Amino acid sequence: MKGLEIRQRLFVKFSHQLLLLKENEIIDIEFTNERPYLCPICLREFADIDLTQRPKNNFLTLEDAPPYALGGKKVALTCKECNSGCGTTIDFHLKEILRAIDDSYFYKGTKHFRTIDHEGGKVSVELTSEGDGTLRAYHRKSKNNPTLLDKFKFALSNKTLGPLLNLNPPKYNYESKRVNYALLKAAYILMFAKFGYIFLLDKSYDAIRQQLLEPKKEIFPYTPFIKDQFSKEHLGMYYVLNPTIKSILTVFNLKTEYSETVIASLIPVPGLPMGMFAHNVNELRNASGHVDIHNSQYDPDADLFNDLNEIQKILKWIG
Ligand SMILES: [Zn+2]
Repeated sequence: MKGLEIRQRLFVKFSHQLLLLKENEIIDIEFTNERPYLCPICLREFADIDLTQRPKNNFLTLEDAPPYALGGKKVALTCKECNSGCGTTIDFHLKEILRAIDDSYFYKGTKHFRTIDHEGGKVSVELTSEGDGTLRAYHRKSKNNPTLLDKFKFALSNKTLGPLLNLNPPKYNYESKRVNYALLKAAYILMFAKFGYIFLLDKSYDAIRQQLLEPKKEIFPYTPFIKDQFSKEHLGMYYVLNPTIKSILTVFNLKTEYSETVIASLIPVPGLPMGMFAHNVNELRNASGHVDIHNSQYDPDADLFNDLNEIQKILKWIG
């Protein structure tokens, strides 16, 4: 399916739900377009013309969650401004940290660039991993100061360097906070893809949206991730039934060429203040660091975009 077709299909699905929710007084918003779409990040309204109108105005683009480069799928539409804004200010940091992590493991056949401090200069070295613990080192002439390289080779052959060389890893430009915001964004978009606008327009999610739009500020202090508790067999979306941490549990996978990392995020239902929620999550942490979660699998057959009964069930669960 072509890009435009996928966007049209997503537009119809979400726009239809938006109108259904309004008709049934589940949401209370005035629209300016007959067939509206709200960007889930900035909540600005778009119409079907914004699928094709470009490049002058802001328009609707395909959104991958998690980012496409990390194995994400096209699950929703966001406006061009939010999509490219978040891409450079947030998602970049997630890709970068995974690059750094992958680089710290010497997977078979991979190349790694390091430097070695020597006589006040830096000798650059290219390492190739053979996968059995052997690393082959190449000192490229084009990447090194020839005089320094000669001195280094001389020291190596005279064994004056000692048995271990200190390898400096390359610098990766990520900020941990922004890595967290990127994970928050992936979890938020995956929730939007599953539930649409049923409860995500609630004011209590404004803090998440603001945080994604303004990563320089600290707006959403809570990090909604559970470490080392879920693995690949848990991938999916769940309702958390514990009354004090009623939330949506999203378990998703970040895939690179070499590795897979499972992330589990807990985002509370509307109305549960984030501070209290974070406190309650910690209260349920057991001795091994795991959170005692009672969860139930989201019904994969429930049509939350057309079936009013299913929508009502979700609202009843939220309470
Ligand atoms: Zn937007």
